[in-house]
Amino acid sequence: MVIELHEMSLMSEIIQIVSEDAAARGFKKVNKIDVIVGDLSNVLPDALELAFMFFQRQEGSLISEDSKLNIIREEAKAKCQTCDCEFIPDYKIAQCPMCNLPGSLLESGETFRVESYEGSEEFDEN
Ligand SMILES: [Zn+2]
Repeated sequence: MVIELHEMSLMSEIIQIVSEDAAARGFKKVNKIDVIVGDLSNVLPDALELAFMFFQRQEGSLISEDSKLNIIREEAKAKCQTCDCEFIPDYKIAQCPMCNLPGSLLESGETFRVESYEGSEEFDEN
């Protein structure tokens, strides 16, 4: 199993932020974390899941074996400033497929953030 350092540190940060918020609300457990990952965010969803699995096995956190990571993919979308054509770019600096001019505006795809999470106040004995 190859652990990607980039995703490890992102996941570590997410778990820390969510755990602190959950603890402040009196939650004992985090059941689910929804994370939005844009196609151009430089975050690999598979690596993020592996990192999450690693943290599931760590003692003393609010994340446990039955906690879930829900990755919501955000498609990349760009709009040409010259001809208003909308398209799916491969890169952040996108070239318009209609007029072949660069300088299109990226409308989505760079997002990387926690959308929401679910906590519970009970420990379940299983
Ligand atoms: Zn164009």
